[in-house]
Amino acid sequence: MNLRPLFGLLLFSALAPVAVPAQTAPATVFGYTDFTAESKIETEFLAVPDAKLAGQHLKTLTAEPHMAATPEDHKTAEYVAEKFRAAGLETEIVPFRVLLNWPKVVRMEAFDANGKLLISGPTREHVDGDPGQDDPRVVMPFNGSSGSGDVTGEVVYANYGRLEDFDQLAAQHIDLHGKIVLVRYGINFRGVKVYIAEKRGAAGVLIYSDPQDDGYYKGDPWPIGPWRPETGVQRGSVQYLFKYPGDPETPGVASTLDLPDSARVSPEGNQPHIISIPISYHDASPILQALKGPGVPQGWQGALPYRYHLGPEGVKVHLVSQQDYQRRIIWDVIGKVKGSEYPDDWVVAGNHRDAWVYGAVDPNSGTAAMLESVHGIGILMKLGWRPKRTIVFCSWDAEEEGLIGSTEWVEQHAKTLERAVAYFNMDVGVAGPDFSAAAVPSLKQFIRELTRSVSSPLGSTVYEQWKNGHIEGNEHRGSNAPPENEDAHVGDLGSGSDFTPFLQHIGVPSTDIGSGGPYGVYHSTFDDFAWFTKNADPHFVYLQEMARVFGLEALRMADSDVLPYDYVTYAKAIQTYIAAAKRKAADAGVGLDFAPVELAAGHLAAAAQKAHDLQSSGKGDLGKLNQALRQTETALVNEAGLPNRPWFRHTIYAPGEFTGYAAVVIPGVNEAIDSKDAGRAAEQLSVLTQALDRAASTLDAAP
Ligand SMILES: [Zn+2]
Repeated sequence: MNLRPLFGLLLFSALAPVAVPAQTAPATVFGYTDFTAESKIETEFLAVPDAKLAGQHLKTLTAEPHMAATPEDHKTAEYVAEKFRAAGLETEIVPFRVLLNWPKVVRMEAFDANGKLLISGPTREHVDGDPGQDDPRVVMPFNGSSGSGDVTGEVVYANYGRLEDFDQLAAQHIDLHGKIVLVRYGINFRGVKVYIAEKRGAAGVLIYSDPQDDGYYKGDPWPIGPWRPETGVQRGSVQYLFKYPGDPETPGVASTLDLPDSARVSPEGNQPHIISIPISYHDASPILQALKGPGVPQGWQGALPYRYHLGPEGVKVHLVSQQDYQRRIIWDVIGKVKGSEYPDDWVVAGNHRDAWVYGAVDPNSGTAAMLESVHGIGILMKLGWRPKRTIVFCSWDAEEEGLIGSTEWVEQHAKTLERAVAYFNMDVGVAGPDFSAAAVPSLKQFIRELTRSVSSPLGSTVYEQWKNGHIEGNEHRGSNAPPENEDAHVGDLGSGSDFTPFLQHIGVPSTDIGSGGPYGVYHSTFDDFAWFTKNADPHFVYLQEMARVFGLEALRMADSDVLPYDYVTYAKAIQTYIAAAKRKAADAGVGLDFAPVELAAGHLAAAAQKAHDLQSSGKGDLGKLNQALRQTETALVNEAGLPNRPWFRHTIYAPGEFTGYAAVVIPGVNEAIDSKDAGRAAEQLSVLTQALDRAASTLDAAP
């Protein structure tokens, strides 16, 4: 999933195909006592990823619709496995049996106050000239994890379906019991919209794409430009992934083929009960236009050419959703290169492969780039190189339904992964020229540093372009953390992609990268190869760029002498989070004693400075130092997990219960303050204090 920046410059489409030089070699790099030898290896690596080959991978991967668990999805697994093997990776296709719904019937009819039919749909996605839209395997628009049912009700418009939007309706005494809530896509995760609607008593939800958010209001729609056309629909999961992601029947357990049914639980914990249906603005517009009741508040008006009203008078909607829930087989592809010095310390790099339809941008631009990273690693191996640590490349399945392939694999290998030194994610690899990244604070500087080594098709380096031109486009990686203005912006990890199980379930330091641009066809049939070559990357030079950056992440981490984690920045970030929570608690009148947690954070900051000096000197027992550095992140994991959502165990980062994509920092504390629960806040403050104490003494013990 992972909706990336919707901003960008269109300069690049005018560029002729140019040979983009591979790199600028740095003299010193944090984590290396002497970078000379590694610099040569990087130069060899960076020369390999090939724009044309990346384009060919993308074309093959997107030739057919390949939703998770379909035969076409299996074909893409075999293609990826073949490329992994050709590069010399020890490769296996790993199946899991997981609960997935496919739509049997999705229907919607809207009537005005006189019972006159306004619209009957959903209308099939169609524009003149799109090559892939008529394939019978294009799945009808539906929501993963939707309930089944047949309901009729009056319509209420709820803007983006944020908590504050629902509160605004409540303030205007608009009751949602038995109503069909019409919300627009944007801002928060769609599962959150349905979650709150269900809590407020709604009988069903229609989620539509307003042209203001990703349609003609932004620019020309496909097939003229990159934005969403009238009939374009955003499919997507409404799983409660902020409770737990993965197979809904096996939280915390891998759903391997031999897992007995008796080990599976009811999926209730992470699924809505009510039905939800995604629609286009073609189908939403007659409803919005006929809706009566109060006019909408400021900021709720979209780009359709009439005044919007809240309802509930004016329109009745009849929704039918029949979902075929089955346990279906999905396939991850895992390829390993064994490390020569620390074979048990894994560097994991992954991208999902399954798509709602063709998935040219989401996710197969990432897959095409990853395959060219693997190509580069393969060439190094042919030259006799072996990484110091084991590198594991992963092609995840069923990410779209709820991060399922990655979550099940992480649950299967949880013990081994407690030693994994990093997880590098790429979902939407390329939608345009704007590089962006999110990471744990310990890896923010790592990403900045390595993007200085990769050339940009726009000239100079990826780092320079990212820092100077495209900072604004990264604002979507929002969180409740204060902004950092001094450098290229690296966001915080919330959820919405496959880093979630690694970081938030077991504490593997993680990053997520991509290259964004104007992208209005997210999760529609129009996210296809034709759209990609016209709008995103006609000459595949951004695929090449991302192959270089992604591969370099794995390479530089795997070969480092000292793990290049920056705990000084991490500790500073945590101190900022604590200060912000303290202010918030004071404002909310929640009385709390912050002295112990401030003391613990201070200890961590001091230990981090000491560790940083050791890392820079590169002297002493590096094996033990690396161990301490790695275990510091694990120390931030709390076994018991967050209150009400024990699967999420990281004390510093979680997806917000009411945002879904965006991160909530020190979530246990902040969410307790938000709900004005002083008892729970005090308890969570002490959980955080203990975690910081553990982290500080782990780091302090470094030799
Ligand atoms: Zn995706």
